[in-house]
Amino acid sequence: MNKHLEQLIELSQIDKEIDAFEPQIEEANLQYDALTATKNGIINEISALKQEIKDEQLKKQKNELHLAELSAKLEENGKKSAEVKTEREMKSLQLEEEIAKEQVAFANEEIERLEKLIDHKQGKIDELEAKAVEIEGNLVTVKADVDVKLAQIDEERKEVFARKQTLVSSMNQKGLSFYQKIRRWAKNTTAVPVRNQACMGCFMAVSDKIYADVIKGEEITTCPHCGRILYLEPTSDALGA
Ligand SMILES: [Zn+2]
Repeated sequence: MNKHLEQLIELSQIDKEIDAFEPQIEEANLQYDALTATKNGIINEISALKQEIKDEQLKKQKNELHLAELSAKLEENGKKSAEVKTEREMKSLQLEEEIAKEQVAFANEEIERLEKLIDHKQGKIDELEAKAVEIEGNLVTVKADVDVKLAQIDEERKEVFARKQTLVSSMNQKGLSFYQKIRRWAKNTTAVPVRNQACMGCFMAVSDKIYADVIKGEEITTCPHCGRILYLEPTSDALGA
């Protein structure tokens, strides 16, 4: 086979190997990323709950203030009732007192409700914080695993890059730019085998003349339909192509 063609085929295989590292890296990071996302979700939930508690504490304070005002008013009414002279004044005072007492009851209920709510939310925060601590611990373990996997992938990658470097340095510039031009759109199918006299890039049949050229392998032949580099697999005879 033509040496330049051999080099182009090898280069396309090396580039394919290099591309295959990306999903491996993504997969190695997957569990770590998922755990980190869960942890961030919990942190956001905690801060939302804390904000809600703050708001509820403010509401509670308002109710407490209102309660203080009401009890001052009731005390004052108590003093006034000793000085009322007419029945009308008495009735009006009683009405005021009733309203104030209702408001006291309502404020007390509201305070109780808010306290329960705050307690419940604080309990939830404690739960979430414990969970976050647990995840943090898991993250350390997972990170160590990921680092080992990534280091392995990196080793393999360095080896493949070194092979590519050696190959590329032995290739001529013309062949290289010819290859790169096709690879820009064809990616990992820049060089494809011919099977059953069809291009395995676009799956169209090639003419007898092209097929004969590919079998000879004396020159670099491209598919007349798609422009990919064509070659014959060494085992294609055995496959009965
Ligand atoms: Zn083709």
